[in-house]
Amino acid sequence: MGEITYEMKDLAYCYRIIEVPTDLLSLSADNTRWLSEVENCKVRKMDAMFNAAYFALNLCDNMQGCGGANHTPCLQRKILDYFSGVDNADFCKKIGQSSPFLRADLKVFLQSNSHARFTPRAVARVMHGIASPAYPSTAWSKTHFWGRYTHIDFKEVMEAAKEELKNFVGKDTL
Ligand SMILES: [Zn+2]
Repeated sequence: MGEITYEMKDLAYCYRIIEVPTDLLSLSADNTRWLSEVENCKVRKMDAMFNAAYFALNLCDNMQGCGGANHTPCLQRKILDYFSGVDNADFCKKIGQSSPFLRADLKVFLQSNSHARFTPRAVARVMHGIASPAYPSTAWSKTHFWGRYTHIDFKEVMEAAKEELKNFVGKDTL
């Protein structure tokens, strides 16, 4: 058993190990798995909210008590569906899974910012226009790639960035 604490320090979110466990790798693996579950859960919640709002604004046929700008009935139905475990985040699947320009743009972005030590997530954040402590919008929104790929699924951008980073680092060490 170990003990860790969460803090924000040096332009990063970090975990500090307070009490070192015998199996440090499994603590790290458990932590990674747990954080990725938290992330998936938060994304599902966002999808559910987007889905409800999208339905009310674009798809509601006003047949079940809605009218004009009042979509309380259909929103309530969507919310009840969510809490009873009905998966109706189908509209969110509309988000693009790939773009023919993504890989090429990532390559250019990495080449023109070769001073930075990116992680795939950091690159995907820039492409989605999401600021982070290490990559604040004040500095990074100046790149014309900032927020350019919001129409492509974040995880897909991250995967593509991972591949491009491998190529990039590979070239660097030759
Ligand atoms: Zn409605």
